Amino acid sequence: ELLKRGLARAGAGGLVHGPVYNPQAALEHMIGDKANVLVGIPTQILTLARLQKKMHASIPPLRSVLLTTDHVPHSIVRELVKVWGCQVFNHYGMTEMGLGGGVDCQGFNGYHLREADLYFEIINPQTGRPVRGGQRGEVVFTTLTRTGMPLIRYRTGDYSRFIPEACPCGTVLRNLERVRSRDRMELGAGEILSMADLDEAIFALDGVLNFSAVIAEECGKRILAIEVLTDGAVSERAKKMMLQAIETYPIIQSVLSSGQTQLALTFNTNTAAYSGEKGTGKRMIFDQRG
Ligand SMILES: [Zn+2]
Repeated sequence: ELLKRGLARAGAGGLVHGPVYNPQAALEHMIGDKANVLVGIPTQILTLARLQKKMHASIPPLRSVLLTTDHVPHSIVRELVKVWGCQVFNHYGMTEMGLGGGVDCQGFNGYHLREADLYFEIINPQTGRPVRGGQRGEVVFTTLTRTGMPLIRYRTGDYSRFIPEACPCGTVLRNLERVRSRDRMELGAGEILSMADLDEAIFALDGVLNFSAVIAEECGKRILAIEVLTDGAVSERAKKMMLQAIETYPIIQSVLSSGQTQLALTFNTNTAAYSGEKGTGKRMIFDQRG
């Protein structure tokens, strides 16, 4: 809604579809209104792309897609570029920033920060001191223009760095490198797995719309249970291939190779289970261990 008001000022029309409860209806909405730019949550936009590819539905040519809200896996960006041949922009922000923190430019090499309203710093998370130019650390920000609930050096838990080189677009704004996902799960014995790792491994698989991951313990064994949502029934052969692709993805393979963790893969084709309000939250690995 905020975006729609902003767009109107720039002379563009915005249509608010809301969370995708029914991907088919969302596609029809896109076709009916001749949408040429999409803004949405990565997994919901991926669902639209894969569904459209499967149904061979013809949609008006898309100029660009802006992904927002959640960490954006490279695997999803690659698929959108492949299916739609459009530019895919990323947005970095969080509610505490007043949503927007920064956004990609056409150069696609970092988020150009909204410095008129927010002062960003990169700090050493141990000492709290700013790191030297171009070094990696935790992103903190201070609000400059807010009167209600101002924030001073608010720690985001995100890791990144400022890119010292000038961006080809000629911006004077500081450029923040892609942020690495904040959620990491300690499996025990120094093994760490993050949702971002799973994202890259699983969204790259054809036909996958979404997935959920749970770590549980059964009879002293650690189980990584992954349920994959697909765009239709999956043949036994395709299931085997998916299982193999996930098992041999380097980070997952190293976690499984210690023998402490077992992978259990299940399949679901009911898109309703993943859509709507439930599908707008941050995706994370759920820990069901005692
Ligand atoms: Zn730029």
